[in-house]
Amino acid sequence: MKIYRFRYRKKILYGLLKEDVLFPIRGSIFRNYKIQDSPIPISEVTLLPPIIPSKIVCVGRNYREHAGELGNPVPAEPLLFLKPPSAVIGPLQAIIYPEVSQRVDYEGELAVIIKKRASQLPEEAPWQEYVLGYTCFNDITARDLQMKDVQFTRAKSFDTFAAVGPCLATDLDPGAVQLKTFLNGKLVQAASTRNMIFPVPFLIRYISRIMTLEPGDIIATGTPAGVGPMQPGDRVEVQIEGIGTLSNQVKKIETRR
Ligand code: ZN
Repeated sequence: MKIYRFRYRKKILYGLLKEDVLFPIRGSIFRNYKIQDSPIPISEVTLLPPIIPSKIVCVGRNYREHAGELGNPVPAEPLLFLKPPSAVIGPLQAIIYPEVSQRVDYEGELAVIIKKRASQLPEEAPWQEYVLGYTCFNDITARDLQMKDVQFTRAKSFDTFAAVGPCLATDLDPGAVQLKTFLNGKLVQAASTRNMIFPVPFLIRYISRIMTLEPGDIIATGTPAGVGPMQPGDRVEVQIEGIGTLSNQVKKIETRR
């Protein structure tokens, strides 16, 4: 099932996609909802980020080849950092290139969306119950600032630096899907999520023992090898089997006068 969040005639709605029409839902996507019998063609809506999280927990260096390409060792435990919810953009929204950076990279990732509050999950917890769905994520990074600063906050947190979408896919095996990133149509990242060092069930439990995960929170599970810079005007696409394609264009910041 693919759940989209969108704007239609000034209303913000969730809907299920069947072929190319959206069936709006009434109720909560986290609990119970009813499917309305009033389909809207997807061509008539503006797609929005599928979720507004209270936080975005990111995992660094979760693919061996990517740790290697930046000269970092493979971590013994997940390396976590946060991105602020203010960085979220949805499908087709612009990534704004900050003036203070000379190197802004894409990082295509699989994102997990949390369904219900998860705190201190034990080893045997049924992790699937805590997952609402999966989506594509672009963990945009000012690489020069990441190298310069001691920690990641500035480099990872500019407005528009967390592209999410296009939908929430509920039926997905997060341990075995193909992830691809394209820059101006050219394939730049390709990997199976099978190659994650710390797989999704492990990450949910591990993070829940540090901070409470709330409904709607995002876990960005790390990027495979092939990260690289983007320039204003570039189009970047993160594509995951069973979810779809998240497409965004890079723009220069508009100077306010
Ligand atoms: Zn990342």
